[in-house]
Amino acid sequence: MLRARARIDLGAIERNCRRLDAAAGDAALCAVVKGDGYGHGAVPAARAALAGGATWLAVATANEASALREAGIDARLVDLGALSPDELDVALQADADVVAWTSGLLDAVAARGGGRVHIKLDTGMGRLGTRDPAEATALARRAVDDPALTLAGLLTHFATADDLGDGFLDEQLARFVDWATPLKRDRPNLVLHAANSAATLREPRAHFDLVRCGVAIYGLDPFGRDPAEQDLEPAMTLTSYVAAVKGVQPGESAGYGRRFVAEEPATLATVPIGYADGVRRGLTNNADILIGGRRRPLAGTVSMDNVTALVDDDVSELDEVVLIGEQDGERVLAEEWAARLGTINYEVTCGISARVPREYGPDDGLEA
Ligand SMILES: *Cc1c(COP(=O)(O)O)cnc(C)c1O
Repeated sequence: MLRARARIDLGAIERNCRRLDAAAGDAALCAVVKGDGYGHGAVPAARAALAGGATWLAVATANEASALREAGIDARLVDLGALSPDELDVALQADADVVAWTSGLLDAVAARGGGRVHIKLDTGMGRLGTRDPAEATALARRAVDDPALTLAGLLTHFATADDLGDGFLDEQLARFVDWATPLKRDRPNLVLHAANSAATLREPRAHFDLVRCGVAIYGLDPFGRDPAEQDLEPAMTLTSYVAAVKGVQPGESAGYGRRFVAEEPATLATVPIGYADGVRRGLTNNADILIGGRRRPLAGTVSMDNVTALVDDDVSELDEVVLIGEQDGERVLAEEWAARLGTINYEVTCGISARVPREYGPDDGLEA
């Protein structure tokens, strides 16, 4: 029994990748494992994704690229993030493809012995990439002409693919198609890529040659709804246990600031997991945890190392607690936390801190 742990079902990641690979049609699947695999562990997630049909991996930082190589993963890898000159060295050493959108970046790659580059057009995200299609085309030509550089791909990134009612994706798609199509005609081997998980699932016209799926490979719904609607299986189960059970009388309170005061005799369970583990303080009096397959409301302030929940007499010390995941048929999804916290599921799993050990397996094989 551990104080807190995150069980990661690698079989679920593998199956989610198969599902996304099928949804992507002829396009190849790039599994995005940045942010330590959205909190699931980059190396095990990458291996599971490759087993599930992904042929590319993507990260955001140079150290993330090196870590995959150090683990012996030799799949095609693209670093999607901004890289300082020092970080560019590290990414190229790791044999990662890199993204460029200025001539200075191409110069920097060439000066470091060269590498494979993808030119990024900013079609509306307003972050990285050039907004000017003519400049992007000039950069692509420069990459083709420079013997140190290999022009590997052309990309863009959508700002609103997760918002099903929004038409901006169509505008971005049109800008990308206008720019990339003539270049692809001249160089059919270029890898065109634009879709994140949401666009992969909702817009076949955005598939091109490669789709970059992150959140969905972990069984998180890119639209913030129940992942089952997209046939996705959540891979992470966050567990703890009941460390103490105590009765409270009317007027007695639990936690900092006395944010829970009993109005009638009640039973409280103390569970030794808190905001230092990623159980955000905004969940104070604002979440349910699972014990014995039933929902129990948090009662009192989430503290750094403990939470308290209102329970019944059926709960005993050392009972397993599920904070995110399924227990005896009842579930709490990361999407539910996200809704309660006014954030997105991405931030929930990325926020499960390094203090929580990750344990890997197909879920069946793990003791409760
Ligand atoms: C993170 C990221 C992705 C993956 O997005 P999801 O919504 O998690 O599928 C794709 N492309 C880029 C450029 C990214 O930064």
